[in-house]
Order: sequence, then structure tokens, then C-alpha cells
Amino acid sequence: MRRLLIRGARVLGFEDRYDGPAAADILIEDGVITSIGPTLSVEASGPGQRVNDLTVIDARDRLAVPGFVNSHYHSHDTLLKGAFEALPLDTWAMLALPPGFVPRNAGEIRVRTLVGAAECLLRGITTVQDMVRLHPYAAEHFDVVLKAYEEVGLRAVVAPHYNDLSGTNSAAFWDEELPVNQRWRLSGPVATFAKDADIIGLIRDTIVPRLKPGGLVRLGLGPSAPERCSQRLLQETAALSAKHGLPVFTHVAETRGKTLHARLQLAAHGRSHITYLADCGLLGPGLAIAHAVWLEAEEIAAIGAAGTSVVLNPQGNLKTRSGIAPIGTYREMGVNVALGCDNCSCNDSQSMLQAMKTYAGLGAIEQPFGDMPLAVDALRSATTAGAHALGMRDVGRLAVGLRGDIVLFRLDEMCFVPLNSAVRQLVFGDAAPAIDTVIVDGRIVVADGRLLTIDLAALRREAEACAAQLRKELGEITDRVTPLYDDIERAAKRAQTTEWRLSHYRRNGKSPS
Ligand SMILES: [Zn+2]
Repeated sequence: MRRLLIRGARVLGFEDRYDGPAAADILIEDGVITSIGPTLSVEASGPGQRVNDLTVIDARDRLAVPGFVNSHYHSHDTLLKGAFEALPLDTWAMLALPPGFVPRNAGEIRVRTLVGAAECLLRGITTVQDMVRLHPYAAEHFDVVLKAYEEVGLRAVVAPHYNDLSGTNSAAFWDEELPVNQRWRLSGPVATFAKDADIIGLIRDTIVPRLKPGGLVRLGLGPSAPERCSQRLLQETAALSAKHGLPVFTHVAETRGKTLHARLQLAAHGRSHITYLADCGLLGPGLAIAHAVWLEAEEIAAIGAAGTSVVLNPQGNLKTRSGIAPIGTYREMGVNVALGCDNCSCNDSQSMLQAMKTYAGLGAIEQPFGDMPLAVDALRSATTAGAHALGMRDVGRLAVGLRGDIVLFRLDEMCFVPLNSAVRQLVFGDAAPAIDTVIVDGRIVVADGRLLTIDLAALRREAEACAAQLRKELGEITDRVTPLYDDIERAAKRAQTTEWRLSHYRRNGKSPS
């Protein structure tokens, strides 16, 4: 039996005492928290166990926090962090996403997965939802991703990212503004799936044989977005999800243009992507929708009634000029709100500390005198609500019976001096330098702020080598897509100025009902 005893940490639970949490010991046995209480006696934890099976952490000057759940993320562009200024989403997507590039090899896929996972762990993220694009789609590359998470020791819910409709169906007015003879510039030389491929069959044949109970890595489904998936593909996704209990992750209403696209085109589904998802059998507790920036009150009510989660990505939405989600409306309607860090090249950090602070601040902008998120609400979104969104009942809190995913922050770091409120200094302060120990499934993966599981110096050398080639290809891609910039901007401007009741960036308040 693996046993880990954390002695004397100030334990940030959710029952009370967010400001001055009490000190307690936490015992983790074979990855599961088995006791939390003052001065635990390890000898009493089970018959026949030896004390030398035990690892003890002296945490008397540490704050113990549930490991963060990064509920929306893509590992496919971790090597492009810092490659772009704050571009509009549609322009960024043409430059940054795998279909624009030539196929990557297994070595690079391993390196990029580890780079993102290492950044997550070093920032206290113990679970990540990776909606990964493999281009072209290949089961052996999916295995490379799963193996990398197991190697580095990060809990992950991995969902392959797929779609069957073309890029010109992505946003309002693209089909009118992008010249037909120039559309070849939208994609690279190789398709993700062969023409007429049985996409859901390929996904099923990858996922189902790899399902296993327990384990660090779990699996899900990632239909890209309703505007990029046919009704048949979404219905097949719903059936596969229902048969095997798989969580489903997708993108909805990220920009005004994408949402307006539904308003103009989806007459059969009430001109709403939410109604479209419901009609396809996907709107329910097994679905988590990323972004949800431009939804209206009746759509948010439907999400709440269905038990669907939303995953807000406030920093990526700002950098891609996509807007600010109606945070207050989600809160009013009781929707489960999780948080994510999204792509490494549109955020460009994997920090739930930053995401929590931005979420709380934007909530206050949207409803300066209303029901804005408090620090503890932001922490819930980054932990328990995230676990709920990912369909995980065994992480997200520090409680007996749950997996031992814990971050220990140093309380002698200046962001916690003096200690007025543990939760507010965690969310509104700059607590990243205070991250000392990260434990995933009862295993210490970060100690003294250093990653123990892989050789970071070697990984850095490999990442630099891969990135040199990527930068060269990015130059070629930029040359290819630049002639489309004016057309895409013209479509985006039409989307911004087309009459619709939601104001740009919602500066005038929440969406009307
Ligand atoms: Zn995304």
C-alpha cells in the first residue's frame, strides 16, 4: 500500500473558514484520502501495515487546496505559445491549428503533450481536459498522448477533437465573403480524415478498446462545434456517449460571428446551437460546452434545466477579442460554471490562478452591483465545478473517499503575509510563486516547486528543436493565409454590425430576456 501523510496543513475545505482554515493532517492510501483530522495516528490506519511504507510531508506552514481542474484545454499547440499577438479568433485559428500544418510525428506529439502537462502541474493543475487534435487522425498518436500523461503524472480526460464540415461553415458570412477560388488557403495539404471516412467509427474504435476503470487517464468525445459538425455526426456522438457513459466536450458561441451564423442558418433548430445540440440528443448532464460567450437568456435557461455545464475561458476570450461571457446570468440560472485555460497559443498560460482572478473580475464588470462571483465561487469553479463538468465524482474537493489531488502553497510567501483571508489571497493575490508541492492520486509530482517525474532540461531541448521547425512552417502558413485576412475581416465586421440584440462585448450589461 502507498501511504502519504500530510502533517499539519491549513486545509481549505468548503464547509467554512475560507479565511483562516484550521490545521489538520491528511492521510492518503493507495491514492485515496482516507482520513482528515487533527494529529492522525498512522499506525491505526490498518492492520499489518509498516510505518516505513509511509511518506510524511511536514506541511505546518502550508495551505492545502484541492488540485485545480483545467476544464478546457488543447495540447496540440503548446509549442506555439507566444507565437501570436491578440488576434481575432478566426484569424488566429487559421494560423495556429493543426489542420494548417503538415502532419506531426509521434516524437513531437509526445513532446508537446509533456510541455503542456508540465506547465499545468507546476501551476497546481492536477486534472486537465485535453480536447486534442490529431492531424491526420491516428489511433497510435492518441496512445502517445495517453502515455505522456501517465509518464508525467497528470490526471487527464482526453477527448479526440473531430468535425465533418468545412471551415467555411465556421462563421457568419464566410460563405459570401471568402472567394471560392481562394478557399484552398484555409487548410493545409492533408485532411484530418479521409474523404467519406466513417469518423465516428474511427473514434469509437479508438476509445472503446482503451476504456478501463480507474487509472489516471480517462476518455471522452470532442465534436469540435455544432457549426462544424453535421446532425448525423452529433447524433452518432450522442449514441456513443450514452452507450459507454462518455462525457462530451464541444465549443459553443465563442464569437458573435459564430453565434450569428446559427441565428441566420438554423431555422429548423430555432436558430440556436443549443436547440440544435438538444435535437441531436446531446444537451444533458454529460455535455460540457466551452466558451458560451454569446448565448441568450433562454438558451442559458435551457442549459441550466438540462444540467449541462459551461466552461468559461476568460483569458483566451479576451486575447482573441471574442467577448465576455454573461457570468451573472449563468449564476442566476444555476448553471454549473467551470473554468479553463484553452489553447497555449491564445491565452498563453496554463494558470487557473489567473483564470480565477479574471473570472471574478469580469463578473464584477458585468454586474457591478449584482450577484458577482466571490473568491470562493472562483475557487469552486476551478475545482469542484470543473470536476462536475468532466463527469468526475472523485476529485475536486479535499474529503475522505476522494482521490488525493492536492496542492500545498507556502504560507511564508509574501502573497500570504499577513494571512487575512486564505481564499481571497489565493484568488486575487499572486500565489503562483507559493506553489510548493503538487500531489496527484497520492503521488508527489512536484516538490519544492520542481517537477519530479520527467527530465525538464531534456524536454526543453526537444521542445526547442521541434519549435524551430514549427516556426519555419508557421512562416509558410502565414504567407498562405494572409491574402484571406481582408475577406475574413469583412465577414467579421458584417457580423459585428448586423442587427442583433446582444451588444458587442456586452458592455451594456447582461443579455436581455
Ligand atoms: Zn477550445
